[in-house]
Amino acid sequence: MYKIIDGKQISAEIKEEMKKEVAALNESGVSVGLAVVLVGNDPASKVYIGNKKKACEALGIVSSEYLLPEDTSEQSLLELVDKLNRDDSVDGILVQLPLPRHLDEKKIINAISPDKDVDAFHPINVGKIMIGDYIFAPCTPAGIIELIERSGISLEGKSCVVIGRSNIVGKPMSMLLLHKNATVTICHSRTKNLAEVVSSADVVVAAVGKPKFVTANMVKEGAVVIDVGINRMADGKLCGDVNFDAVAPKCSYITPVPGGVGPMTIAMLMKNTVAAAKQKQK
Ligand code: NDP
Repeated sequence: MYKIIDGKQISAEIKEEMKKEVAALNESGVSVGLAVVLVGNDPASKVYIGNKKKACEALGIVSSEYLLPEDTSEQSLLELVDKLNRDDSVDGILVQLPLPRHLDEKKIINAISPDKDVDAFHPINVGKIMIGDYIFAPCTPAGIIELIERSGISLEGKSCVVIGRSNIVGKPMSMLLLHKNATVTICHSRTKNLAEVVSSADVVVAAVGKPKFVTANMVKEGAVVIDVGINRMADGKLCGDVNFDAVAPKCSYITPVPGGVGPMTIAMLMKNTVAAAKQKQK
């Protein structure tokens, strides 16, 4: 019988731990601050930053929001980032992606101080993850490691297959698994015999962006399956990258969608912000 990895519960545990850490920092006279920048009116982005603000409030993190109009120039966004970089009350800076097309995302990310880059997208932080000397890791892959470890699953020596090689999920995920001494294979759209490769895995992480992509024949009996996919279906419901009903009976552990990886992202953002504040004290 498979076990569900409950992302809601594990994210609540992490937030509770962070609340205690923030309270302890406050007691020693240190406040923790997160600045969130949104350019434009994308409805999904507005929901995300609303959720981030709520999480900050619940944990005692001081959140500041910068809502900029769609036609904001690159220069004024860079000036805001520079101001936040120099603001001592700001420990973490998050520029909500995607940005409107006229803004160069790479240029904006590169302008954020690596010490405040709580999304861990800055090339310096990407490099630090590569060499295994990091304080922040991107929230989604870092959250997946928490889901696995807090479920009592050891990664040491395990064969892990990550499907997807994006800069925000697949690649950092693979590095984090490698740092846990797993043997890691990365699959992508040009991979040959993907089903065969995936079916050799003890742990499968699916970050493809295609609903029900992972089917039962691709999964080994007893595997751990982590579904990163968030696909909005025609009926408005969310669907993962894994065909849950067919795959779950073969698994030892599996994450649901929703309620698996999704809730971890904000919890890890909070954790990274607290880590940035603690690092500043050092
Ligand atoms: P991207 O579109 O950036 O990357 C998708 C990856 O899947 C690519 O590397 C691509 O390969 C690979 N791929 C696509 N089709 C195939 C195929 N037929 N066979 C094998 N590999 C394939 O997506 P993201 O990494 O940003 O996100 C992946 C999913 O995770 C999405 O559903 C997204 O919504 C979700 N997500 C969820 C988060 C959460 O908090 N739960 C956070 C971030 C993302 P190639 O490189 O060759 O094109």
